[in-house]
Amino acid sequence: MEEAVLCEIKGNSLDDGPGIRTVVFFKGCPLACVWCHNPESQSRRAQLSFDKTKCVDIGECVKACPEDALDKHNPLFVDYDKCTSCFKCTEVCASEALSIIGDNYTVDQVLATVDRYQVFYETSGGGVTLSGGEFTLYPTFCEQLLRKLKERKIHCLVETSGYFSMAHFEQKILPYIDQIYMDIKLFDEQAHIKHCGKSNKQILENFGQLHQRYLEGGGPILPRIPLIPGITATDKNLAAIATFLKQQNVTELTVLPYNPMWSSKANKIGSEIIYSNEKWMTAAEVEHCRSFFKDFRLV
Ligand code: SF4
Ligand code: SF4
Repeated sequence: MEEAVLCEIKGNSLDDGPGIRTVVFFKGCPLACVWCHNPESQSRRAQLSFDKTKCVDIGECVKACPEDALDKHNPLFVDYDKCTSCFKCTEVCASEALSIIGDNYTVDQVLATVDRYQVFYETSGGGVTLSGGEFTLYPTFCEQLLRKLKERKIHCLVETSGYFSMAHFEQKILPYIDQIYMDIKLFDEQAHIKHCGKSNKQILENFGQLHQRYLEGGGPILPRIPLIPGITATDKNLAAIATFLKQQNVTELTVLPYNPMWSSKANKIGSEIIYSNEKWMTAAEVEHCRSFFKDFRLV
């Protein structure tokens, strides 16, 4: 049976679409945004995480590590250059400060969790959201999962970076989903390559095609603009995105204000931090960004 690597399945989210939802966080992403709010979802492989707030006594794990990768004098505790992801240290960590992020799941294992929350979907108008990372990295798994969710008449929403093959998406995903959230981050291609690791051409093309389908009676697609100070939240970028969306006859969108909490997640897995910004945006800064979209319904 087809398997996918997941970071987690969150049972009762209120933030990822209408109503109460189960969110399936896939592991792996073709982009590498320097502010990624889910840095643990960028790599497809299972990773060691160290949460120093849970650590009560360093000792057994250091002895268990065959690579000498754990050292209390190291600010991150784990030397990720030495770590081979054998996960022997997690077996002796009683406080779960050392843990593994990422595990293989079958479609039936995901459905077992989904089924537990079905009553909440019915009473709240909720459903299931596929998120990540980028769920489209697992097209066959998602096709099998989405087909079974539709058999159960569950509302299906997907959150995507937009970086996918439209041929696969049309064939394996689109027939089964009710709604799409797609991030539009940077309009300038070179800036997108610099800050997200890949060109945005395919993303903008995919958005245009899916929005056109919506205008012709297909499922709704909501563009989401992450506001990253100094990168996406610049007057030039926001004005360019607003012009692009107007040309596509888009009438509603949402903005996602910057959340600096991602850096502590990145530290737990030893990710290199390229973009450093610990400050929350002020209400006035967010309002200024929203003003570029005054002709749209902001949801
Ligand atoms: S997962 Fe890494 S740190 Fe833990 S025991 Fe293995 S090599 Fe050492
Ligand atoms: S597309 Fe999303 S999950 Fe992927 S790197 Fe960018 S912010 Fe992270």
